[in-house]
Amino acid sequence: MLELQNVSYKTQEKQILYNLNMKFIPGHKYVVIGTNGAGKSTIGYVIMGLSSYKPFEGKILLDNKDITSLSVTERAKLGLTLMWQEPARFDGLTIENYLTLGGKLTIQKSELIESLEFVGLNPKLYLNRYVDKTLSGGERKRVELASIILLKPKYVILDEPDSGIDLMSLNIINDVVNYISQYGGTPIIITHREEMVYNTDYGYLICAGKILMHGKTEDVLKAFRGTCEVCEHPNVPLN
Ligand code: ADP
Ligand code: MG
Ligand code: MG
Repeated sequence: MLELQNVSYKTQEKQILYNLNMKFIPGHKYVVIGTNGAGKSTIGYVIMGLSSYKPFEGKILLDNKDITSLSVTERAKLGLTLMWQEPARFDGLTIENYLTLGGKLTIQKSELIESLEFVGLNPKLYLNRYVDKTLSGGERKRVELASIILLKPKYVILDEPDSGIDLMSLNIINDVVNYISQYGGTPIIITHREEMVYNTDYGYLICAGKILMHGKTEDVLKAFRGTCEVCEHPNVPLN
């Protein structure tokens, strides 16, 4: 289980997260939903342990181990992964290099090919392409999804996987989410869009850095559609 205990985060100017308690239990698929600016990405960054989001208050536990003081790399080794809202570029690295961690991972060529096919990238056209600005944002997201297929992390946070949706079909994201739960991983989808929640079981509704409610996805969705006293119109993006 991935657990946040009393997690708060503030910058010098502003409190962003307020005393969050969250549990992500293997065997379920999760959504973290809220409008723009609610604090969703910040939750992902704090869970991953990005150094610019330290220090924060509270604790993060991964399979009963306190990982609060661990680095991003150490957390990744324990099976935590974040797919960025805006995936990074790696100038000079081909997709093949990127997916095999520069040859450090021993992956059969056939597995590599299958992972690209899974995310709708033709291996013949893409294996030797560079993970740089010549790839669109949607293509880079697909490459990151292929790396999830290959690495099989235990907990996968997908931050707005549908942004760039023109280029990437919702079906592919759903297939990857199902694949993660089939190998025993726990997918956590961060989104502000209803379309993204239907393939999840449980969720958290975030508003202005707080958990407004959590529970079964259908109940969370009802609350998300409603009006909240904190931000008044939760379905209208704040920025
Ligand atoms: P979401 O992902 O839900 O759209 P974010 O987590 O990106 O929301 O941001 C939550 C709020 O915190 C926003 O108001 C954002 O402007 C602010 N914020 C996030 N990171 C920082 C930072 N490093 N410094 C100042 N404000 C920040
Ligand atoms: Mg946002
Ligand atoms: Mg965000």
